[in-house]
Amino acid sequence: MSESGLREEICRYGRSLFERGLTPGSSGNISLRLDDGGWLVTPTNASLGFLDPARISRLDSAGRLVSGDKPTKEIPLHAALYESRGSARAIVHLHSTHAVALTMLPEIDPRAALPPMTPYYLMRAGETALVPYYRPGDPAVADAIRGLAGKYSSVLLANHGPVVAGDSLEVAVFATEELEETARLYLLLRNLNPRYLTPDQVSDLVQTFGLDLPSHHDHDGHDHG
Ligand SMILES: [Zn+2]
Repeated sequence: MSESGLREEICRYGRSLFERGLTPGSSGNISLRLDDGGWLVTPTNASLGFLDPARISRLDSAGRLVSGDKPTKEIPLHAALYESRGSARAIVHLHSTHAVALTMLPEIDPRAALPPMTPYYLMRAGETALVPYYRPGDPAVADAIRGLAGKYSSVLLANHGPVVAGDSLEVAVFATEELEETARLYLLLRNLNPRYLTPDQVSDLVQTFGLDLPSHHDHDGHDHG
């Protein structure tokens, strides 16, 4: 897709996410990695609902602003996930209500923030890591994401929101939506003793669809200790 097509795509998905209440005010940001190593990223203080394709920040491969408005302050989140997941071409970060709520619950496993509730959660979002709370702008959050060693395409920032990588913007957006809806299901069913997918059902999905789930890395003959 041409760069102008990609700019339009960022605006179209941004508006769609905003209009469905998935990220309020000027929260949330989207980035795309380009073939020349540069990036397109949404500007700081811009609402995802009202993006202008001509004002999207264009960065070179060294992260310098080439054109457009000043980029989002949350660039370190994106850079850390791109760095650790070489195949990622797009990243979506939202402040979506149910995913943020999930991060504040005491029982959440930081290496599997959601149980295997539906096949589509596993197929789109995979498993989800939770990293601790960091003050906005604290560079330590990037270290926390790098510490996951690229095993997770979806990461929740405690008391803040999801960061999700994909091979394309559409993949990243759909995965973020699946994560938000699964967090909503979890909150609806919490303390109701729901039946999640069994380990056999999860293994069947992993084998049938070739899913890359961190919890299944230990079953492929590699010992992570
Ligand atoms: Zn944020």
